[in-house]
Amino acid sequence: MSTARKFIVGGNWKCNGSIAQTKELVGILNASSLASDTEVVISPPSLYLQSVASSIRPDVAVSSQDCWTGNGAHTGETSADMLKDMGVQWTIVGHSERRQKGETDELCAKKAAYAISKGLKVMACIGETREEREAGKTMEVVVRQMAAYKKHLDSSKAFDAFVVAYEPVWAIGTGLVATPEEAQQVHKGLRDWVANNISSDVAAKLRIMYGGSVTAASAPSLASQPDIDGFLVGGASLKPEFVSIVNAQG
Ligand code: PGA
Repeated sequence: MSTARKFIVGGNWKCNGSIAQTKELVGILNASSLASDTEVVISPPSLYLQSVASSIRPDVAVSSQDCWTGNGAHTGETSADMLKDMGVQWTIVGHSERRQKGETDELCAKKAAYAISKGLKVMACIGETREEREAGKTMEVVVRQMAAYKKHLDSSKAFDAFVVAYEPVWAIGTGLVATPEEAQQVHKGLRDWVANNISSDVAAKLRIMYGGSVTAASAPSLASQPDIDGFLVGGASLKPEFVSIVNAQG
């Protein structure tokens, strides 16, 4: 972490939970002591967004897990406009579980740009598969994904509402967390790419979260790396352990 960038921890609940579990998780967060220097964002399934947004403490923001690029004939989708209307402040885009269902770099980037144009903040996911890592293509892949976001986010101002989540696909839901050194190397490479291809100002301000099997045990050493500015947490965000991850950089 760097003191120049506010640490951010997101909880991606994915397609999990029920009304009862949602209330329980909100209750735990509302009753917990959360580090005031960490931004906390939780991302319940869309059906529960409204109830979570109206019951969560005001210092915890709410995010959608995806969003579509407009209203109209898009059966099953949720638009950025609707999310704004519901009091949702953030959306995740480009999660590998959606990319695996066919979303391209281009579509993820269009979603990010549209969401930001509507006033949402975006956690934009990128990350390489195991095969890509083993083939030595990690930076090539994450830079390609970042370049697509850059192409659509034309102004530096748009980057104020943009956070990157580096999530190696091999680490998601597998219990195989990247080592702090492995994650730091990619985060630093991404920041250098942003400095060279967008601007040094955007690079200095851009928060890069790490995601992939983060737990209360692995969070502190990851958080101590200079270019790791937070976490996007899946499995552990459904447990009381999430509170320890939020407080990990202390
Ligand atoms: P995980 O998921 O923490 O369960 O690995 C992370 C994510 O997919 O955002």
